[in-house]
Amino acid sequence: MTLQERDKKHLWHPLTQHKLHPNHLAITKAKEALLFDDKGNEYIDGIASWYTCMYGHCNAYITSKVYAQMQQLDHVVFAGFTHEPAIKLSEELIKILPNNQEKLFFSDNGSTSVDIAIKMALQYHFNQGEKRGKIIALEGGFHGDTFGAMSVSGLSVYNGPFEDFFIDVARIQVPTKENFEIVKEQFIKLLSENNVAAFIYEPLVQGAAAMKMFDGRLLDELLAIAKQHNVLAIADEVMTGFGKTGKNFASEHLVNQPDIICLSKSLTAGLVPMAITSTTQNVYDAFLSDDIGKGFFHGHTYSANPTSCTAALAGIELLQSEEIQNSIQRIIKSHQTFDARIKNHPKVKETRQLGVIYALDLNVEMDRYGDLRYKLFRFFMENGVCLRPLGNTIYILAPYVITDKQLEKVYQAIEESLAII
Ligand SMILES: *Cc1c(COP(=O)(O)O)cnc(C)c1O
Repeated sequence: MTLQERDKKHLWHPLTQHKLHPNHLAITKAKEALLFDDKGNEYIDGIASWYTCMYGHCNAYITSKVYAQMQQLDHVVFAGFTHEPAIKLSEELIKILPNNQEKLFFSDNGSTSVDIAIKMALQYHFNQGEKRGKIIALEGGFHGDTFGAMSVSGLSVYNGPFEDFFIDVARIQVPTKENFEIVKEQFIKLLSENNVAAFIYEPLVQGAAAMKMFDGRLLDELLAIAKQHNVLAIADEVMTGFGKTGKNFASEHLVNQPDIICLSKSLTAGLVPMAITSTTQNVYDAFLSDDIGKGFFHGHTYSANPTSCTAALAGIELLQSEEIQNSIQRIIKSHQTFDARIKNHPKVKETRQLGVIYALDLNVEMDRYGDLRYKLFRFFMENGVCLRPLGNTIYILAPYVITDKQLEKVYQAIEESLAII
């Protein structure tokens, strides 16, 4: 039996209607920007396996560091104990995070980092005797699939069974030049009711909404207003973090810095799962008390797993290396050249780029999970390129180590795909 056949027996895949899509491609190996299947075919990982392995798959520097750590200390409970990988990671990560960030709280994935941010925000006000239970979020945002994260996500594609159980969320439109006065007015009105705990947003790029980009200056204005009302700003940088927007964090493009930041995905360079919710001293201090109940009683078994911390540390080292920084600039320029070549194509409606994130909207209407999406996906795979269109958007977010030749192959596949739609 092939891996694909054996897969079908016991496995249930994420985001999948198995009746319509029973087959899953077996990948046996990955190296740098390439994935290899069980038939020996290779594919350029144009989306860095959901924006994780930015320094390349099976990066030898990262795996060697992690291997050494595994032989030294595999895991220890992080309640009551500590260890150097977590300490060192805190020192190095705080250095590159926006200046106001001081404290790190560990969990396992992007969704839990968001749930933690929401719980922190709710308890921050609760501890100060304020009843604030509402979270403001942006329409079309995506923050994950656990209950809190799902509640604040605006992309409620198939959330029907759960909607009655969501936390209290008010949604505002993504600010644009056209709607800004209305959005701002609505935002101020919501805040003036004094029951808003936090405002959560993906800074500058809404990833799952098909790499929708928006003007940071408008977001900055909203953040300034939130501050005046003591509403905590939560930046979900799970996708945007670690260099993708051309700066280490998308929040660095803004003047007003968030109170809380969610990190995961490329935090651990695609090797092992981990997430971090970082906060300011001010947020942390609201949990300090002689009253034990004012502490943050949230914890995951694998909090601050030493091997994950080691992967993150090695990733941060690579991110700051000249080689990766040069590569980021190289990809930015390469995308710009490609953009000039394709943006006037009749089948292309709009293109956009921020840092190494490049997206183009096709001039066709289709569902987010519609048939054309699968047709395009198959076309790309047959051409040795792994791209996963979202609705009518094709986007590239490749590992920083992708070569110029591989980039050209991705561009060519996109150009050729326009002929089949
Ligand atoms: C992927 C993602 C999440 C959820 O992370 P998981 O690790 O899949 O739970 C949350 N927010 C953003 C912006 C993401 O891109």
